[in-house]
Amino acid sequence: MAKLSDELIIIKGIGQVLADKLASIGIKDIAGLIDYYPRRYDDYSVLTPIARLKPGAVSIRAEIKQAKGRYVRRGLHVTEAVASDETSSVRLVWFNQPYRAAALKPGVPYYISGQFEFGRGRLAIMNPTVELVSEFPLNTARIVPIYKETKGLTSRQIRRAVSEVRPLIAELPETLPDWLLKSYDLIGRSEATEAIHFPANTANLLAARRRIGFEEVFSLVLASLMNKADVKDEPSLPVKFEPELAREFVSGLPFKLTDDQRVAVMRIYMDLERPQPMNRLVEGDVGSGKTVVAAMGSLMALAQGYQVVLMAPTEILARQHADTIYKLLKPLKMADSVSLLVGSLSPAAKARAHQAISSGQAAFIIGTHAVIADAVDIHKLALVIIDEQHRFGVNQRKALMSKAGHMPHVLSLSATPIPRSLALTVFGELDISRLQTMPSGRAPVTTKLVVPGSRLRLYSKIDKELERGRQMFVVTPQITENGDPSVSSAEEVYKTLKSSSFKHRRIGLLHGRQKPSEKNRIMEQFVAGDLDILVSTTVIEVGVDVPNATIMVVESAERFGLAQLHQLRGRVGRGQYPGSCYLMLSKSSAPTQRLKALESSTDGFELAELDLKLRGPGAIYGTLQHGVLDLRIAELSDTELIRSAVRAAREFMEKDNLLNYSQLTKRITKLRLVTNLN
Ligand code: ADP
Ligand code: MG
Repeated sequence: MAKLSDELIIIKGIGQVLADKLASIGIKDIAGLIDYYPRRYDDYSVLTPIARLKPGAVSIRAEIKQAKGRYVRRGLHVTEAVASDETSSVRLVWFNQPYRAAALKPGVPYYISGQFEFGRGRLAIMNPTVELVSEFPLNTARIVPIYKETKGLTSRQIRRAVSEVRPLIAELPETLPDWLLKSYDLIGRSEATEAIHFPANTANLLAARRRIGFEEVFSLVLASLMNKADVKDEPSLPVKFEPELAREFVSGLPFKLTDDQRVAVMRIYMDLERPQPMNRLVEGDVGSGKTVVAAMGSLMALAQGYQVVLMAPTEILARQHADTIYKLLKPLKMADSVSLLVGSLSPAAKARAHQAISSGQAAFIIGTHAVIADAVDIHKLALVIIDEQHRFGVNQRKALMSKAGHMPHVLSLSATPIPRSLALTVFGELDISRLQTMPSGRAPVTTKLVVPGSRLRLYSKIDKELERGRQMFVVTPQITENGDPSVSSAEEVYKTLKSSSFKHRRIGLLHGRQKPSEKNRIMEQFVAGDLDILVSTTVIEVGVDVPNATIMVVESAERFGLAQLHQLRGRVGRGQYPGSCYLMLSKSSAPTQRLKALESSTDGFELAELDLKLRGPGAIYGTLQHGVLDLRIAELSDTELIRSAVRAAREFMEKDNLLNYSQLTKRITKLRLVTNLN
């Protein structure tokens, strides 16, 4: 008797070739095969008498007569047959399946499923799937699961393989507690898995999807709750609120804070006063003014003799932050405590910085994640600010804690809007502040979709802007061409611009494969106005401020997510001149609804919701995060499901213990590493 952990090759009907194909998509054993869920279903479960057929997807039970095939012209073979039941007859037509006619046996009943439509002049069932009548039809006369067809694997082969291991589905161990199944009205894991592959009817399939989706969301939320609980129990440093200091800072600002900014800062102060570590995310579009919020949020800690660390994803950003924060703290005479710690510092400068940090003289330490995480003694660390980094998990936080001796408060800043539904699940236990209103006086960036044919006309318009002294970003989805010539690459675009339309302009190239010093040099040239055009990948995505840059061209725009494009266009029009963003489409085909949304909406949160609906969480968090979230069945738009799964996870935390469930433990342990920000 086979076991779930057995290799596929031992299954009847699975030979080496098929086993290899399955292995190539990551299916190595029987359990893996069972865990490969269908992508969608075709409902052929209702058998219709031929006399009552209507156009559309149909299933019949009939005998087949007069099957004949012939070439109607070179390269087009047509098989025609007649199928009859007690009520009537119908034509069947197949294209380019010359083996068909010989394979059909007369006088035996078949299930026949396919599209009933006009073909070759009359109504017929086109390219139907045909299967001898049996108790368990696989490919017809049922709700037929459609698997992702890839690497030469067909849905049919997978259906066949899954049906061979069907008896073993009953042996899947239950993952969820009994009490939870009962009180949330969920079917068991085996039953659900069976129904996912072999749905008996629609209700059965829905119950299965609800159960599996529920478990996905439940696990994510539970992992996030556990991370939070872990952090909460650690001692932190309460930081006292000093209203006088806050007032002084505000009066030194060259502008008035927006309401959202003020609320966010107040929340931070309240969080910091508590004995539990803060865990807050400030979200706002590029330019919404997150840096001021972070600087103001740090004041009390600095004044009370503690240290604050700000981690930026790149050295360029770290330098810009150091500059900004220095200026913001200057009126309070706190600017001397700002210390920059980045990879390109000379060994001597680095040593000096380390010294100042461990002596406590450097209180506001600004640098890149890598450099700061590396061997720095920050004894009096009260607050860590993380700019644009989704992967600062519990482990990194603990590493910092081990140096400081207590859990630091954490403030994350992000321009990536998290849709509400996702916030509820993955980031469920995170406190979020949104900066939704932009500081006044900034004109929104004008966005236009551009088809390839209009490129030259656009270029001559852009050149007039460059002539007036403005600058342009050109963003591409990849560094080097990667097989598909229709997808732009930074290197190709750079070469083309340099040799044709913009050969009289100063052009720079920036991408992630360059050395940090090289990147810095080019970026500094662009900031200084020594370059007119900067061709780059999304390395410029976050934070960089070049007020004179007014034009952005995004090449192969369809390769980007909406939230990402929205973030990109926030790079331009940050100074006194209005910005324009041109989204170049690779092909002349009509632009999708998705990209059109960018022309009409300037709300990053709205765009993120739309992206989530149309493309799933991967569009927002990148493919890595997407796979890792492991939501295969659950729809984030299903708020009822999400709400009850969140409730269940809370209930579990209160009255149960993960140690009682070994299956669930495995899954949660993995997820705890990725439900970051907690
Ligand atoms: P973010 O990090 O959210 O993209 P920044 O903090 O870099 O944005 O702020 C962008 C610009 O807006 C900065 O030049 C900053 O000085 C300015 N700014 C911030 N808050 C305000 C405000 N309330 N009114 C006017 N300008 C502001
Ligand atoms: Mg910023």
